[in-house]
Amino acid sequence: MTQSEVNQLLALAIRQARDLGIPVAKNISPVVELNFRAKNRFGCCIHRPTGPVIELNAKLAMEGNRDAILQVLVHEVLHTCPTCSNHDYRWQFYANLMNQHYGYNIQRTDNFSNLGLEDDRQVKYWVICNRCGKRFARLKRSAVTDYPERYRCQCGGTLRVEKAPPGTRR
Ligand SMILES: [Zn+2]
Ligand SMILES: [Zn+2]
Repeated sequence: MTQSEVNQLLALAIRQARDLGIPVAKNISPVVELNFRAKNRFGCCIHRPTGPVIELNAKLAMEGNRDAILQVLVHEVLHTCPTCSNHDYRWQFYANLMNQHYGYNIQRTDNFSNLGLEDDRQVKYWVICNRCGKRFARLKRSAVTDYPERYRCQCGGTLRVEKAPPGTRR
């Protein structure tokens, strides 16, 4: 999505919340700020002197689908309500209201699969040295995972490949 498309979704998120009488802040910045460093966090609500600013994970903004982006924006917009800076009772109440009316699945914490994104930190294969036992994490199929016999470890040992169980991280 482009920056202006993301900004439009933010305006929609704010409008939907207000339509249900949810007291989101009046001075939310209309410009969503993209965060290129965040890996595990998909959105953030930053309180600036000029008003709340909604930050969005840049990978989600660029590769995520519209519904996932909108849902994260709604999650963050709800943090601008009075006494909603955490995920306590009041924030949860508003989140449930949005879920019921618009079919969102807003949760306290999101994860990659929840948002329909591929988790690029997920280890898919281990390439293991038969001599020194060193293990190399591979995130996707490649020549070395397909043909380990063509390669050697730094120690000179031959290699074998094992599929990593789902959910394996480096
Ligand atoms: Zn939150
Ligand atoms: Zn080795």
